[in-house]
Amino acid sequence: MIQQNITFLKKRISEIAAQCGRKSRDIKLVAVSKRFPVEAIREAQKAGQTLFGENYLQEAQDKKGQLDEKTQLHFIGHLQSNKAKIATKLFTMIETVDRIKLARILNKHLVERDKSLDILIQVNIGRDTRKSGVLPEDAEKLIAEAAELPQLRIQGLMTMPPFTKNPENARPYFRNLRKLAEGLQSRNLFFDCNAIELSMGMTHDYQIAIEEGATLIRIGTAIFGERPPLQ
Ligand SMILES: *Cc1c(COP(=O)(O)O)cnc(C)c1O
Repeated sequence: MIQQNITFLKKRISEIAAQCGRKSRDIKLVAVSKRFPVEAIREAQKAGQTLFGENYLQEAQDKKGQLDEKTQLHFIGHLQSNKAKIATKLFTMIETVDRIKLARILNKHLVERDKSLDILIQVNIGRDTRKSGVLPEDAEKLIAEAAELPQLRIQGLMTMPPFTKNPENARPYFRNLRKLAEGLQSRNLFFDCNAIELSMGMTHDYQIAIEEGATLIRIGTAIFGERPPLQ
């Protein structure tokens, strides 16, 4: 089932991309495997999936130990500063950097190992008090400060809009994230200002996100099914 779901999603991504004049290779699928066992990841790998998203440090660490080197993990949960060190070792990208303190601690641990790390700045584009992320008006300051940290490569922005039943309601939030990135393009703060990553869109709204410029879509349920409850 997981393999079929991935094949189906890849087809949908190409169709949606074609409809809005984008290249499907510019849209990467992050398979969100949180709360699913490592076997589910292996199933997805059989369908050619190499990139996975995880929300919990301990869980990601357990799984990483059982997966081969080719497996890329993105961290998409809330990262506590005291877990920053281990996070720099587990993930190829941390999508949820939302405060300068966290950026500085990540940088410090990376300096010690002479390593670089791809990050995204998480923006609370919907100003939702229950969600993490820097407020849109504070994003530029955070990005400018983080851009001075030599080990961090700021690849782009990530957001999770407020949940609404109708995915069309997410469109203005996705559009605002893209506009925020476009507004910062000329400031030379991103690792590659001509290829700013936008991580937005989940199972119920990825079509809208792709139409609005997503380069990373984070999909869990449509690949792995309904998530098991937290233990
Ligand atoms: C769980 C999660 C997802 C995946 O959500 P689905 O609706 O299952 O596709 C995407 N992004 C983040 C940040 C998540 O926590």
